[in-house]
Amino acid sequence: MFEGERRNMDSKTLFEKSRPGRSGVAVPNYWGAENAEDSSSIPANMRRSAEPALPELSECDVTRHFVGLSQKNFSVDTQFYPLGSCTMKFNPRINEKAAALPGFVSCHPLSPAELCQGSLQLMYELQKYLAEITGMDAVTLQPAAGAHGEVTALFMISRYFHDKGEQRTKVIVPDSSHGTNPASAALAGFQVVTIKSAPDGSIDLEALRANLDSSVACLMLTNPSTLGLFESKIAAVAEMVHEAGGLVYYDGANMNALMGLVRPGDMGFDLVHLNLHKTFSTPHGGGGPGAGPVGACGELAAYLPGPIVRQTKSGYELAAQPHTIGRVRMFWGSFAVLVKAYAYIRSLGAAGLREASEMAVLAANYMRVRLHGRYHVPFDTFCMHEFVMSADQLKAEKGLHATDIAKALLDRGFHAPTIYFPLIVEEALMVEPTETESLETLDAFVEALLEIADEDADSLHECPCNFPVTRLDETKAARKPVLHWTEE
Ligand SMILES: *Cc1c(COP(=O)(O)O)cnc(C)c1O
Repeated sequence: MFEGERRNMDSKTLFEKSRPGRSGVAVPNYWGAENAEDSSSIPANMRRSAEPALPELSECDVTRHFVGLSQKNFSVDTQFYPLGSCTMKFNPRINEKAAALPGFVSCHPLSPAELCQGSLQLMYELQKYLAEITGMDAVTLQPAAGAHGEVTALFMISRYFHDKGEQRTKVIVPDSSHGTNPASAALAGFQVVTIKSAPDGSIDLEALRANLDSSVACLMLTNPSTLGLFESKIAAVAEMVHEAGGLVYYDGANMNALMGLVRPGDMGFDLVHLNLHKTFSTPHGGGGPGAGPVGACGELAAYLPGPIVRQTKSGYELAAQPHTIGRVRMFWGSFAVLVKAYAYIRSLGAAGLREASEMAVLAANYMRVRLHGRYHVPFDTFCMHEFVMSADQLKAEKGLHATDIAKALLDRGFHAPTIYFPLIVEEALMVEPTETESLETLDAFVEALLEIADEDADSLHECPCNFPVTRLDETKAARKPVLHWTEE
């Protein structure tokens, strides 16, 4: 954990550090020394009349500047990062080594299958492991992210009903599902029907029943939901949708709560996606690459995008499913991410994966119980790998908002939890400790939150104070971003 005062507080830009004539490179002059000014072959209107306004710095200046910037950032390597819904757990370095093995790195994606049997075997086995973990019949490793997996599955659903000659245009999404669910359904051309949660945060069976008819293609369910709760009526939900002729899609991005404990296939689900970059050991948050494999059961498996790796008598080959929707990604998908997931699954084994999920759930419940005396926990029951608190009571008590708490945590050396999400909880603070944190770290975070709750609200409105910039005007930053540096 970093200490605020040791942070690199230098906030000058490269332009402010610039000194005329200072240089970090010594390159030979392309034109030769004697005719350095001879640019007569370039038309006059295309020549500069003045030097470009670039900063002038030494190599040392530049190195310190960028290393300094990198240290201003929060990361899973430097801080506790309880960003709910994102699973910012620590990823073992050894898996990076596996992904960087020369045999994997130098394998060209257009190599013939006989020259990359090892890579294909890895993909084949990973397909099998993920099918086993989710209880599905077949898995594609192609999609690049969770949302990409969702839209892939919805394209499959669309094609499936088209082939059956059924006109099903609607996708039902509970309001406790992840925001990408309705977005993916809309992108795949479906009409999105949102249903409200029951008072206990679970899916409202009456609302579901009221919306089920022959126009419903699918129900998308996030389980555990964005409230961190296990959907207790899940088997009944799957059965109801199936009775109406629809399919059930499982958003398995939160699988790190459930590995080895329950399987979407056993709960009656037809399709599922996983986020390898959340659950299976790929660092993320910087925009990728990730991987969102999709598993399918029964008839749906025939629609999976390819290539899928099959085992033959003599080895492994790339193959297409009989009704495949085609490709959703170039080549073999995010191959390095697949290697990390494979290494992670193999090193932990079945018992280890289950223990990881149990630890994630234990950590979240430990924190929930330590905090629920001082922070309002709207759905205060046994949670899965994350839980949602609300600052609504602190707001009423002393005008403290979720933002104030988040910023005060930054000053204390913690990444903030997710705030103002899920949307169905006012002043939400969504905490996901993950399975990789020690008891000491969990305690330190709890103590910081308890301290903040008792602090003078006025002083907290100013947070963060230990950073190059203090509280930003977020509206102005979004509406009027300053994208150019201009000399005063
Ligand atoms: C993160 C997440 C997604 C989206 O995954 P991306 O890889 O970011 O596209 C979908 N559903 C849930 C529940 C998630 O937590």
